[in-house]
Formats: sequence, C-alpha cells, structure tokens
Amino acid sequence: MEILQPDTWDEALALKAAHPEARPIQGGTDLMVELNFDRARPPQILDLNRVAALREWDTAGAVLRIGAGVTYTRLIGELADRLPGLAIASRTVGSPQIRNRGTVGGNLATASPAGDGLPPLFAADAVVEVASVRGSRRIPVAQFVTGPKRNTMAGDELIAAFHIAPADAPQQFAKIGTRNAMVIAVASLALSLWAIERAVKACIGSAGPTPIRATEAEAFIAGVLEEDALWDSRGEIPEAAVTEFGALVERAARPIDDVRGTAAYRHHALGVLARRTLVWAWASYREEAA
Ligand SMILES: Cc1cc2nc3c(=O)[nH]c(=O)nc-3n(C[C@H](O)[C@H](O)[C@H](O)COP(=O)(O)OP(=O)(O)OC[C@H]3O[C@@H](n4cnc5c(N)ncnc54)[C@H](O)[C@@H]3O)c2cc1C
Repeated sequence: MEILQPDTWDEALALKAAHPEARPIQGGTDLMVELNFDRARPPQILDLNRVAALREWDTAGAVLRIGAGVTYTRLIGELADRLPGLAIASRTVGSPQIRNRGTVGGNLATASPAGDGLPPLFAADAVVEVASVRGSRRIPVAQFVTGPKRNTMAGDELIAAFHIAPADAPQQFAKIGTRNAMVIAVASLALSLWAIERAVKACIGSAGPTPIRATEAEAFIAGVLEEDALWDSRGEIPEAAVTEFGALVERAARPIDDVRGTAAYRHHALGVLARRTLVWAWASYREEAA
C-alpha cells in the first residue's frame, strides 16, 4: 500500500485528484480499525497529518471555521466556551488517546449515525467545507450526510473545515451507552438554545440512518417559549410542555433493533434525554440572568 504524504493543502488536493481511490487518514481512529480488520484495502493512503492548515481554527465574521484536523482534545481545551454542545459531545468520545487523535473531520467523513460529533453540528446548522482542485463548496451538514456511513463527497474531494456559529445560549448533549466510557452511543441527543433566533434545535443520534433533527419538537417548544414570553422572563417551562417535547422527540426517532439496543428502548431513552437536556439547558439559561 502506497503512503502519500503531502506537506501542503494544495499538494493534498492534487494527490487526491490524481488518486481518487486513495483513503485520507487524519487521526486514523476509524481508518486503522477498517484496515486492521481487512474491511478496506485502498491502493493508497493519503496522510493529511503534515498539512498544518487543517489543524487551524479561526473566527470568520460571526461564524467559526474549524479545520478538519482539529482534534477532540483541542476542541475541548480551546473552544468549550464557544461550542459547549460540541465540547460536551467531544468529552464522550472514546478515551483520552482517541480524543488526542480523533477529529470531527474524520467523524464527518465516516458519517456514522452513531458519530458523537454530528448531532451538535446538526443542532447548530453547521456547514461543511469540502475542496478539490476544481474549487471548494459548502454543504449544510444535514445534506452532507446522506445515509449510514455515506456522504456527498466526490472522489477528488477532501473536507477542509466546518463552519459553525458560536453559542449565544446554553447547549447540551447526552448519550446513552452500555457503560460510561469508551462506548458507541445506543442513543444520543444534542440540544441547543439559540436566544437571538429564539429557537431550540434538537438532533437525535444513533437512532436512524443519519442524525435526525426533531423538527416537530423544536417547533412545539419554540411556540411555548414564545407564547409564554419565556425568553424574556426566563421563567420555568411548564412541566406539561417538557413532557410533550420529550414525546415529540421520541416520535421523531427512526431506530432499528441491533446489538446495542432495541428500537423500543431507543425511543424511550430519547424521550428521557430530550426532557433532561431541555431542563438542563433551560436551567442554565435562567441562571445566566441571576
Ligand atoms: C476505541 C475507539 C473508540 C471510539 N469511540 C468513539 C466515540 O465514543 N464516539 C464517536 O463518535 N466515535 C468514536 N470512535 C470513532 C472515531 O474515533 C471517530 O469517528 C473520529 O472522529 C474519527 O476521526 P479520525 O481523525 O481519527 O478519522 P480517520 O480514521 O483518520 O478517518 C476517518 C474517515 O474519514 C476520512 N477522512 C479523514 N480526514 C478526512 C478529510 N480531511 N477529508 C475527507 N475524508 C477524510 C478517512 O478516509 C476515513 O474514511 C472510536 C474509535 C475507536 C478506535
């Protein structure tokens, strides 16, 4: 197997164009598993680790641009204040060793419905920037992920970065697994409050072919917050509304029975996660004013 090691982004794009079958490697925490289990045998590996530009992040206007090679450890250490939902999710990924190597870029390309980095991106309407020698394009994350372990990238494209708005209100992420650490999610939920937009965005993980936005639940709770003027008063959300929100999230899931859990359990669990994350996030929002 040939190992291609570009030093610059332009070189990486040229190599990908010349070798569309080449598999990029960043942290290697997904790809090495595939190679070790003989699930993939690509003619070339394109090692992106020398491309410094992929490890950078910056604020372009109101939105953050995060290079595809920024690790979970760095997201937690450098961006938890601006991206609290993604930071909470990042803390649940694997172990310290996996977080030191693994990247959201790799999580996006793998596009697993259980990828923990994805629901917070969906709940922020993040945009994925992909590039090739032909130019670059930006794809809303919900369009980037097209199915279980499938994405819209062409053979000559690489993920350069993702663009995401910094939080303007509390965000939460909760994940259920068979134990507390080093576990693939049985079900997860990312919930973000957007105070300026007056929106609540919720995305289900690991309970459908792709992460799923719970749009009916979002519209319902936005209506309650608006009607009761709760964004301004920061009053408590009525218990009945929290319950209904949970029920609507539960209904939005499209889980299957698999080795990690049954569909019925996942539906139930998501109702619990939805109620919990809403209550936690709203309590933080109320405390901010105190
Ligand atoms: C022990 C263990 C525990 C884990 N626990 C979790 C967990 O709790 N939650 C979770 O979500 N995941 C988990 N994972 C999976 C993995 O760590 C994540 O999916 C991680 O985000 C992958 O990032 P990476 O940089 O290591 O990707 P890599 O393995 O380098 O690449 C992953 C895929 O992305 C492609 N790729 C990489 N970079 C680019 C790019 N710039 N452009 C285009 N394609 C690219 C590769 O070709 C490959 O197909 C775990 C893995 C292991 C081994």
